[in-house]
Amino acid sequence: MNAITRYLKSLMLLELAKGAGVTLHYFFQPKFTINYPEEKTPKSNRFRGLHALRRYPNGEERCIACKLCEAVCPALAITIDSAQREDGTRRTTRYEIDLFKCIYCGFCEESCPVDSIVETDIHEFHFENRGEHIMNKEKLLAVGDRFEESIAANRRQDAAYR
Ligand code: SF4
Ligand code: SF4
Repeated sequence: MNAITRYLKSLMLLELAKGAGVTLHYFFQPKFTINYPEEKTPKSNRFRGLHALRRYPNGEERCIACKLCEAVCPALAITIDSAQREDGTRRTTRYEIDLFKCIYCGFCEESCPVDSIVETDIHEFHFENRGEHIMNKEKLLAVGDRFEESIAANRRQDAAYR
């Protein structure tokens, strides 16, 4: 009996009509899709994207090479070497994040006592050459310098929610 019903339904193209009806219904509904990358969906100020190292307003790098971020990183993506400067302060001589290992958990950002390592809301980045996935100190500071305004704004907004 089922086979006969199925045969009659297919003969009358009922499934096709049903599908066309669904298409027609959604044709006049508001669209769920956007024209990316021209159009973008809003992002949370807590979005965890590309990393950056921040500086103080006087240009001094914030990082004090305490290595908390390196210790807390569950993916072992951070590598830090440090040395003491002539003025007695400690700074990193090497700060690298392997973006292929990173799982964007945000633990490094949470652990940092001086708000140095942060994750920006930048998600549109790619690599074209071997080795570019290693973000070294210079590249991380450059990201921080370039996006400091939006990083600071996001952090102010985040603090207001807490
Ligand atoms: S976001 Fe998480 S996985 Fe990535 S570097 Fe920071 S602590 Fe490590
Ligand atoms: S980024 Fe922050 S947590 Fe990591 S070594 Fe520097 S000061 Fe310490």
